[in-house]
Amino acid sequence: MWKKKRFNNRNSYILCGLIFFVIVGTAFCMVVDSREASREKAKIVAEQNAEEKKKAEEAAAKEKAEKERAAEFTLQPGVLAGTLEPNKEERVVYLTFDDGPSENTQAILDILDQYDAKATFFITGFQADYRPLIRKAYDTGHTIGLHTYSHDYSSVYSSVEAYFEDLEKIGEVAEEQIGYVPCFIRFPGGASNVVSKKYSPGIMTELTGLVQEKGYQYYDWNVDSGDGAGLDSEQIKSHSVTDKYSHPVILLHDSQTKTETVKALPAIIEYYKERGYEFRAIDRNSFVSHHAVLN
Ligand SMILES: [Zn+2]
Repeated sequence: MWKKKRFNNRNSYILCGLIFFVIVGTAFCMVVDSREASREKAKIVAEQNAEEKKKAEEAAAKEKAEKERAAEFTLQPGVLAGTLEPNKEERVVYLTFDDGPSENTQAILDILDQYDAKATFFITGFQADYRPLIRKAYDTGHTIGLHTYSHDYSSVYSSVEAYFEDLEKIGEVAEEQIGYVPCFIRFPGGASNVVSKKYSPGIMTELTGLVQEKGYQYYDWNVDSGDGAGLDSEQIKSHSVTDKYSHPVILLHDSQTKTETVKALPAIIEYYKERGYEFRAIDRNSFVSHHAVLN
């Protein structure tokens, strides 16, 4: 009997001890777990904060770069863009698209994006529905230049005043889309056009000087893709590719009917890529191709 009682007491001690250890152990584990969870939570919060900080820094850097690009590209009277003597050690190709935006602009942007190639768009004003693509092109690193609002030779070359009136109108379209009037322009028909003689003899001689006085720079081309003459994609490609120049400036068109240009574009880009050319959008340091003025 005494033996049994002693035995029961001993069991009670063991049981109490076990319960004590279980409680203490559980409490200890709970504390450790909660500390671990807090540490994990703090780590996640820190990572999120770092990610947000990185995103904010990237957005600020992008905004700063955008402001610098706008400040650089905007019309600045007395500051002439470009160089007539490019660095011949470099191989740079300038794809230039006139007469857009149009139904074809999105396809052109997609191809340029696919090849990570930058280009320049000399815009007109007659396809108002496609104007948001001006902004889109600009946002993806392409340069926006002015071509004229109406592209109507009989109107834009009727007088110096008429030309500038039209140029200012397309400047307003650009400003609506990208926030400023760019300094880069291209004359309809190029500076060498003689069609203008029919409307105003000598006007190109006057205009080429005047635009530069006002802070614009005009860009002609040294490679004509021939797409203006209604060639097919094979012919456009063969007219566009040459290793004659270290800085080819290729005339292409981005108007409604130029679907053959879109078809030819990948092959043109591939030709220059294979030969190590860099595709650049025109900026203030770019090579300026000027034609001889014939009127
Ligand atoms: Zn044109």
